[in-house]
Amino acid sequence: MTPVLKNFQLKSKKKRKTGYIYDTAFLKHTRIGHPENSGRLKSICKQLENSSLLERLVPIEGHPAPVEELATVHTEAYIEKVRRACRSSSPLDPDTYTCHGSYDAAVRAAGGLVDLTQAVLNRRIRNGIALIRPPGHHALPDRAMGFCIFNNIAIGVKIAQQKYKIRTAIVDFDIHHGNGTQAVFESDPSVLYISSHAYPFYPGTGAIEQTGSGKGEGSIINIPLPHRTGDTDIKTVYNSIVVPAVRRFEPDILFAVAGYDAHWRDPLGVFDFSSTCLAWISSLLVELADDLCSGKIVFALSGGYDTQVLAVDVANSVQALCGNKNFEDPFGPSPNGKKTNKKLDSYIAELRTLHRL
Ligand SMILES: [Zn+2]
Repeated sequence: MTPVLKNFQLKSKKKRKTGYIYDTAFLKHTRIGHPENSGRLKSICKQLENSSLLERLVPIEGHPAPVEELATVHTEAYIEKVRRACRSSSPLDPDTYTCHGSYDAAVRAAGGLVDLTQAVLNRRIRNGIALIRPPGHHALPDRAMGFCIFNNIAIGVKIAQQKYKIRTAIVDFDIHHGNGTQAVFESDPSVLYISSHAYPFYPGTGAIEQTGSGKGEGSIINIPLPHRTGDTDIKTVYNSIVVPAVRRFEPDILFAVAGYDAHWRDPLGVFDFSSTCLAWISSLLVELADDLCSGKIVFALSGGYDTQVLAVDVANSVQALCGNKNFEDPFGPSPNGKKTNKKLDSYIAELRTLHRL
């Protein structure tokens, strides 16, 4: 019996290909002293190379998204505004800088997401991770916000929708609410957007009552959480709300807005998640995709501003995508202790009632 089992394992491992998008152009959008700088991605690449994880992944070639692709989400006036701002290195909003390399980085981030999504949908790879920047989930159709220029995932989904009739679930575990992604899909019943985020916090959106509009009513699930939310409570939230909502939706593909700024060490964050907990979330989403849609899941790098933590957490997400569970956590649990929210049970009951879960 043993050899048969061995063969089976080898066969299934061989089938489990994880792809990634990366381009040195992403390093050319940078500003010294700004938390969203190229050091983030350099730190991730170093960790993936040192742990020999990168060589196990399939590199996917990305293209710079042309205006027609960007315009599936953004107005042409805004795209032109970005192009001009990048030429003169002018800021797009108080938080979002540009420099000479920004336009190329931003269009390659969006195009990379498009290519990675296509590679997953046409089964060239089972799943994948977009190691891209600038991030995207705050970017609105006509406005840059919160370090984000183009809404990469939204563009990836829109282009995929032109080719395939698909149901898409987006789970955003970045500590910030993805106001841009919500705005793009709030009236689209074929896209479920679920966000767990700190509240009140930047950008101020993501209240529980924002549940979608028109035909998309009910397809937005916001889970605003108090500052210092930790591992125990977020696991309860994911098990009680996120998992049943995604299961009920029966997506054809999943996206993870992979923000690691909910880690307790993050300089911009206010949550107390450990790296073990963030790895648990990644693993849970990969398993959900395995169960519901033949493993089709795309992670897109979002926040995470402690570069050491970010590198470890992204490597853990890659392990999860590869079907492994040998996660690292050199930072341990939050020194703030294991606090739990006494009102969590009633809050979850309220959310479950609101979304008929
Ligand atoms: Zn964030």
